[in-house]
Amino acid sequence: MNLLADFVEKSVAFDNDAKLKLLLVISGVKPATFVPLRITPKNLDDKYHFEKHLREQGFKFTVAKPRSFEEIKDIKKNIIRWQMQGIWYGYDIFKNDKVKDEFKKYKKLARANKFKQADVIGGKVYGYPSCCVREFIKERDPKYIAKRYSYSKYFKKLQSIETKFPFLAHTPCASSCKRAEALNKKYRAAIKKLAPRFYKEFTKKQVFKMPIIVNFENDLMIKGQTIWPKRTMHNYTAIAKKKIDKKYYLLSFLSKNEYIEGDVIKAELTLQYNWIKVKELKRTGHIDQLAHERKFMI
Ligand SMILES: [Zn+2]
Repeated sequence: MNLLADFVEKSVAFDNDAKLKLLLVISGVKPATFVPLRITPKNLDDKYHFEKHLREQGFKFTVAKPRSFEEIKDIKKNIIRWQMQGIWYGYDIFKNDKVKDEFKKYKKLARANKFKQADVIGGKVYGYPSCCVREFIKERDPKYIAKRYSYSKYFKKLQSIETKFPFLAHTPCASSCKRAEALNKKYRAAIKKLAPRFYKEFTKKQVFKMPIIVNFENDLMIKGQTIWPKRTMHNYTAIAKKKIDKKYYLLSFLSKNEYIEGDVIKAELTLQYNWIKVKELKRTGHIDQLAHERKFMI
């Protein structure tokens, strides 16, 4: 048994996204990753245990200063209330010193605003295909995105990538990227072999019917102006009105319908991997003056 993998599978310090990335590094298929480790009164010892297991297996890491994190506590009338849940530490984890040294180069270039050179090295550090890194560099420029995609095409691409490559941590260059497809397949096999319990949980499909509340429409801007003044579809961020597995989820979906903030829609939600698919059933109401109440700014 791999003690580190066993710890990561069981610990509540990591969400599924962090578990996936960690298990990929532990299995040896991914050279490095960044994950948040969350500490609450329920798992005070997890930081100590995590670092002990990392050291025992020869992984190199750096850990950032703690920061607080909030989650939605409840939704009453028009108020979405957030509450501080604990603190989190950001971990950069590397399979060996060589990868850690490359990461240092990447950070140094990024700090000097040399993003193009930084991204090329960063892509290697995290194990991303070079075609995807090249496209990522181009898409840093919203003007390029405006020329290349319509609003619908852009968000459709993001949605199809998410569905097609659930085991990848990066945004592939296209949903047809062959290298991303091969990597997704390799990662899936590695997780299935190393962590069958997590694999089962991560791939499990759950369907719920519940109301969702539209929060805002997603957009890309240059100096406060949208890059897509014309659009035939809308990509919204919404909040599931009821808890799923003890948590309120934020989700996004693409729709032909025009909604405004506070619209309530009955929807069918499909949860699988690290995404939620939304099927709109019908608009059922509206909440006036929807507001988030947060004590801490993140
Ligand atoms: Zn690619």
